[in-house]
Amino acid sequence: MKAVIINAPHEVSVEDVPAPEAGPGEVVIKVGVAGICGTDIHILDGEFPLTTYPIIPGHEFGGEVVQVGENVVGVAVGDRVGVDPTLNCGACYFCQRGQGNLCERWNGVGVGSHPGGFAECVAVPARTVYHLPEGMSYAEAALIEPISCVVRGFHRLQPQVGETYLIYGAGPMGLLNAQIARYNGASLVALIDINESRLQKAKDAFGFDVVGTSLDAVREHAPRGFDNVIEATGVTKVAEIAIDAVIRRGKLLLFGVCPPGERAAYDAFKIYNEEITVLGTMAVLNSYGPAVDILSAGAVDSAAMVTHTLPIGQFGEAIDLFRSGAGMKIQIDPSA
Ligand SMILES: [Zn+2]
Ligand SMILES: [Zn+2]
Repeated sequence: MKAVIINAPHEVSVEDVPAPEAGPGEVVIKVGVAGICGTDIHILDGEFPLTTYPIIPGHEFGGEVVQVGENVVGVAVGDRVGVDPTLNCGACYFCQRGQGNLCERWNGVGVGSHPGGFAECVAVPARTVYHLPEGMSYAEAALIEPISCVVRGFHRLQPQVGETYLIYGAGPMGLLNAQIARYNGASLVALIDINESRLQKAKDAFGFDVVGTSLDAVREHAPRGFDNVIEATGVTKVAEIAIDAVIRRGKLLLFGVCPPGERAAYDAFKIYNEEITVLGTMAVLNSYGPAVDILSAGAVDSAAMVTHTLPIGQFGEAIDLFRSGAGMKIQIDPSA
């Protein structure tokens, strides 16, 4: 079968490799569509500490079950499914306390050591698969994982209906956060990005009218600050300045993946004096199922989110397109 292989940082190719077999407790999925994510770029550039090479990347995908291993219940050949890529050990201190996203042996399909979805077929533990609702396409199924990360962020944030939001970053993750904020009863959702074409897209395709290239451009809409500020750029400097936008008693959620080791400096007095909460959110925890449900219920405009679908042979071009910042979600069709 055809698969994308990253042999080492900066060394990517599409190769013919043996198709996987379903071991005990596993199923093999024929991948329908797999989405490219910023994490894939970090893996490609050798900037994701948890990856072991060589790896078949791809952790956002859906497809059809084509093989079922021994001791699998609840999944059958022909089922249409999405995959929660989290592979936590189930036995460590954090797993035993229900915090599998913080597992001491954390691994993920397509991001750690387990082969991922930029391939014609992939084998995954049966416990990671979720059945797709009738009528949900594979292009939509590939959006469930990024949405599940946003749902995890909202579980951390615990916002109230009627609150205001400011989101730094109008890329795919910023716009997913923005749409779920709106779905969650926001009274205002503002977006900041330095890429004007992304702000235009946020307006034209998603109806977010309060946008700008800096806090000054949107400040008048929430002069005292925003209840919920979500950092979705992964730039440490942005994570630092984002606190300036938070209202008294408000929250800052660090959603973007900043480079490890970089420090953001905060005014400790401001956090104390204004009762500000700073929160982290890590990947997916009990949020894949809710993501299936809210996507199915219409929380996200999936047609506007997916701007490009390329065959697996053009993976390199798809990565270049992603890096250029053109378009929104870029997806790969492994069978094309
Ligand atoms: Zn991702
Ligand atoms: Zn664990």
